[in-house]
Amino acid sequence: MHEMGITQNLLNIALDHAQRADAVRINSLTIVVGELSSIVDDSVQFYWDFVSQGTIAEKAQLKFKRIPATMRCAGCGQTAPLDRQTYTCPVCGGSSLTVASGDEFFLESIDVDLADSSPVPGSKETSHARD
Ligand SMILES: [Zn+2]
Repeated sequence: MHEMGITQNLLNIALDHAQRADAVRINSLTIVVGELSSIVDDSVQFYWDFVSQGTIAEKAQLKFKRIPATMRCAGCGQTAPLDRQTYTCPVCGGSSLTVASGDEFFLESIDVDLADSSPVPGSKETSHARD
């Protein structure tokens, strides 16, 4: 299980960004997870509830965005969805493939409440100009 460290990392990055933005609360995080990455969403969620306790990110919603796996063929240069049956290029039949996408794991964005602003129900607007 390496999700514990990864989740702690996510939290640190989110808190860092929130602090720089003067946020008082982190509402949600959008996390990009490649199909080939070994990250298990449920484990991250589980550890998240644990590591975020007592921080402004406590109870923040985790949104996982899945990226499908694609490969690039060394023979013809074609990029195509990974064929998990044959692991060969659908164009030339070559078997020298490299991963083009699908092994990603990163924090894409966070949604925060800023100081001096109250969340508006049903609105995505969370940052308001201060008078
Ligand atoms: Zn090919």
